[in-house]
Amino acid sequence: MGKLVIVGTVAFDAIETPFGKTDKILGGAATFIGLAASQFQVDSAIVSVVGEDFPQEYLDLLSNRNIDISALEVVKGGKTFFWKGKYHNDLNSRDTLATELNVLADFNPVVPSAYKNAEVVMLGNLHPNIQMSVIDQMEKRPKLIVLDTMNFWMDNTLEELMEVIKRIDVLTINDEEARQLTGEYSLVKAAQKIFKMGPKYVVIKKGEHGALLFHEEQVFFAPALPLEDVFDPTGAGDTFAGGFSGYLAASDNISFDNLKKAVIHGSNLASFSVEKFGTERMLNLDRDDINSRLHQFKALTQFEIELQ
Ligand code: AMP
Repeated sequence: MGKLVIVGTVAFDAIETPFGKTDKILGGAATFIGLAASQFQVDSAIVSVVGEDFPQEYLDLLSNRNIDISALEVVKGGKTFFWKGKYHNDLNSRDTLATELNVLADFNPVVPSAYKNAEVVMLGNLHPNIQMSVIDQMEKRPKLIVLDTMNFWMDNTLEELMEVIKRIDVLTINDEEARQLTGEYSLVKAAQKIFKMGPKYVVIKKGEHGALLFHEEQVFFAPALPLEDVFDPTGAGDTFAGGFSGYLAASDNISFDNLKKAVIHGSNLASFSVEKFGTERMLNLDRDDINSRLHQFKALTQFEIELQ
């Protein structure tokens, strides 16, 4: 069984979509990553921070899924990171209405000693200085360091973010953010520019239009499953990242062919995440659900053709 270190926000989210509205519910990049990764045979630990307002019930929900939360600090008297977002009618774009860092503003991450030799590190969305500190604490270079980020950190901490990007293997990013980071409209050119920043692999997520994996001259495309019900896309990117990194940590194989499979596992899990608000669907997911969708993925993309 491989080991996976996960860093990212553990948060309260308030979400508005064309189908409804929620008050503060469980969210955060590390939460979605952890829940997705827990679907694989992997020992994972979340390095993050919450405030005293964070319910014990939510902490239990993570530890019940075998996620080590000993490095999930609870700050006495502190308030948990809060994010509020509103989706447009097409659900492909959203406006951030509030980002309150709260306890995240002065967080010093500590990687548990049993995880300092983890094979895979998943640097989820949060301040790049925290992502950097996690890399620095690893005893030996992990086999794979994956980073996910978003426009908020590009807007506010670009220099620090670029330093972290230099040290990673895989960048997962959505199409608009890839364009913002590189100034290129073409995603092929954007990926090439990102290679020059450090990573050997780039995954560009395109929401309901699937994901592209770039490596040197090679490109692999995974569609998103056409779904009957899309309720709330929040956390889809993180769920993708959790499935991607969880699968790779469990299989301990970082060949390009296996990264392709990781993209499929990530896309598969993300397809569930969007069916209900917040983490609800990820908390009620079983092996049969997952396997039957993997079959659908295969059927959707497989075809025979006679080549002359
Ligand atoms: P995604 O939909 O995959 O981009 O992720 C949404 C999740 O990211 C929500 O659960 C938020 O709590 C969290 N989030 C939103 N903004 C930030 C931010 N600036 N840094 C870290 N996490 C964030």
